[in-house]
Amino acid sequence: EKCDVGLYGLAVMGQNFALNMASHGFKVCVGNRSSSKVDTTVQRAKNEGNVPVVGAKEIEEFIARLNKPRKVIILVQAGKPVDQTISKLSAFMEPGDIIIDGGNEWFPNSIRRAEDLTPKGIHFIGMGISGGEEGARNGPSLMPGGPKQAYDLLAPIFEKCAAQVSRTGPCVGYLGPIGSGNYVKTVHNGIEYGDMQLIAEVYDVMKTVLKMENEEIADQFAEWNKTELDSYLIEITEKCLRKKDDMTDGYVVDKILDKAGMKGTGRWTIQEAAERGVAAPTMAAALDTRLLSARKEERVAASKIFSSPSVDESIDQARVVEDLKAALYASKICSYAQGLSLIKAASDEFNWNVDLSECARLWMGGCIIRAKLLDSIQQAFSNDPDLDNLLVDAGLSKEIIDRTPAWRRTVALCTTSGIACPSLCGSLTYFDTYRRERLPASLTQAQRDFFGGHTYERIDMNGRFHTAWTDAHRDIGDVNQRV
Ligand code: NDP
Repeated sequence: EKCDVGLYGLAVMGQNFALNMASHGFKVCVGNRSSSKVDTTVQRAKNEGNVPVVGAKEIEEFIARLNKPRKVIILVQAGKPVDQTISKLSAFMEPGDIIIDGGNEWFPNSIRRAEDLTPKGIHFIGMGISGGEEGARNGPSLMPGGPKQAYDLLAPIFEKCAAQVSRTGPCVGYLGPIGSGNYVKTVHNGIEYGDMQLIAEVYDVMKTVLKMENEEIADQFAEWNKTELDSYLIEITEKCLRKKDDMTDGYVVDKILDKAGMKGTGRWTIQEAAERGVAAPTMAAALDTRLLSARKEERVAASKIFSSPSVDESIDQARVVEDLKAALYASKICSYAQGLSLIKAASDEFNWNVDLSECARLWMGGCIIRAKLLDSIQQAFSNDPDLDNLLVDAGLSKEIIDRTPAWRRTVALCTTSGIACPSLCGSLTYFDTYRRERLPASLTQAQRDFFGGHTYERIDMNGRFHTAWTDAHRDIGDVNQRV
């Protein structure tokens, strides 16, 4: 009997996603470059009892074991390994077969691979997967982009294996043509960076300015997780803060070296934001902070030169904590607004037609950024698919207005205390820039015209204009003119 689906690449993600599909009754054939992982996976499936997994150690056998049209999910290291794997697998595949790359991939690579496979008639889907090891096993968020008719053949499998949200269904759905799924996953990760940085900043204030104990801070996050801030990242923050260290006494979090790592998707988001001309200060600040955190030795040296300002002892802790909560939520809305604007810009540029309410729906379960806020975001974009920016949605704009005073007090407190809050402040800056009818960009335009003759538009007349700003300009033949 042949298998419903093949899974090639059996590291953390592949192994768990194979078992996930098998435990929903799909017959899965598994393969991997080094064959020991095939044995491990088959053994794990046996240990779990009910799951139909078949191992194949040679590529030809792996492909031969699949029902046509063959469906192969690959979960190998992103980049070159994906090209190598596709080339080996496709040698034994036929027109109509489908390859799904589930890795964190830079979207142009998926577009190129789809083009390379087109002459062979093989369909290619680039599908972001979020939820880590646990999600892959028990229900991830799946973000597929590729040919719709190929996706439709996979939908029955993916809809069973994805995270299930009672009100909105499985966290998978067709996002658009090839590249769009990887793009949405990349931005998901950028938003994840922003959310994590916002939480870190709030933690920093509670720890450094308010001098709260870990357990007290954890209690606060637990409390917040019952409110509009309800989210996976808030939930795990509480758990991270409470974890006692087995090796020495005290808490694990206090022993961890303060250098944040990264694998690249956050950087891609910021590169893309610049490329598409979309402001993303909250996520960019998260990236900057990780970069600075990595320079631990330099920071240690700098800390000997510069001291922190003294902290005001008369601070009202309860009030500051309330303010932090409001600031965190308002900042989070701004961060999602940036991420969704970025997806919108790419979707317009590449004619993907990505439905932003569908993005929000796919993120409601299984993934790292799952959060109650996504309910309101989905609502906002289903009410108005052409909404210019999340901030101007009727419901969310009110939530922001209510929180603005607390948000400003929080950023002010950080500033006077010498606690960097680039993401809280980046969000507030985004808001304060976006909400203003008139900006000092008028002066920027004047300067550009002054030194580079770049011209400017006026508020009172149509057309483009140039000014001879000084006598020196006139001396070289410059004149005031409409151009
Ligand atoms: P890794 O990214 O660690 O990749 C290891 C796998 O890639 C192994 O199966 C390895 O085979 C295979 N591999 C490496 N080079 C080659 C090659 N040249 N040819 C064939 N196979 C190769 O695995 P993960 O499970 O962590 O991640 C898989 C994908 O999913 C990645 O794109 C990752 O970014 C993404 N992802 C990971 C998440 C996570 O939490 N880990 C979460 C979401 C997405 P071998 O055993 O022979 O060395």
